[in-house]
Amino acid sequence: MTITEYDVKTILTKTRIPAGDYVINPYIGCPHKCIYCYADFMRRFTQHKEKWGDFLEVKRYNQRFNIPALRHKKIVFSSVTDAYNPYERTFCVTRGLLRQFMHTEVKIEILTKSDLVLRDRDIFKYIPNIRIGISLNTLDDSIRKALEPHAPSVNRRLNAIKLLHDEGLDTYIFLSPIFPGITDFKEILRTCKTYTNQFYFENLNLRGAFRPIVLQYIRDNHKALVSLYDEIYKYNTIEYWQIMEKEIGVFCREQNIQWGSYFYHEKIRK
Ligand code: SF4
Repeated sequence: MTITEYDVKTILTKTRIPAGDYVINPYIGCPHKCIYCYADFMRRFTQHKEKWGDFLEVKRYNQRFNIPALRHKKIVFSSVTDAYNPYERTFCVTRGLLRQFMHTEVKIEILTKSDLVLRDRDIFKYIPNIRIGISLNTLDDSIRKALEPHAPSVNRRLNAIKLLHDEGLDTYIFLSPIFPGITDFKEILRTCKTYTNQFYFENLNLRGAFRPIVLQYIRDNHKALVSLYDEIYKYNTIEYWQIMEKEIGVFCREQNIQWGSYFYHEKIRK
């Protein structure tokens, strides 16, 4: 792992992603190394020759945020890294930034795959508008290991969301990305519906450099699904997702589960 650390003058970026007004990425790069990581495109903006997941840039931000200007705005941690990747334990960049939002009316949304998020509960209780999501797409840890080799196990994530929820924080599970034929959303909802009260769903998109890697993984490990992936990703049919979205809606209504969809998110406009 190549690690560089440097000072930055800005760290807050306006965003068009539907979940927020601004995004903060405390790092460039992400050691979780998910095989489907769309953020791989960030390598184009750096000089790194290493593969995605083998380098990390640590941003030191020593400025103060203009808190009055951010009142009621929503800031998302993060869009192209995991703010709680394992190196956050050492560098504490996310923790330092979050401290600035204590006792303010800024809305904070954190989406992570890591139970390291639990470390900062002492800060969260002083951020009145904070929401924390854990993402996962399987309960089978051998599949998790193949798709997200360096991210925390399924059990660690479930324990984390359960604890945060039990402590009264606003939490959700993000089923993302949903792998056709692999992600069993009903099994996840049945298991986790007492761990949090909100669920969001996002389909797997294969538009980046990671497309051949994911398709190779399917050919090597899930031969029976090859024709399904061809149908969805070679011929770009969206019927599979339309049917699944309807099924999710029916199931969530039956189970009285609060849910939201980020399917086909390239079409979402704020
Ligand atoms: S956790 Fe997110 S940013 Fe990090 S490698 Fe996985 S998909 Fe990419």
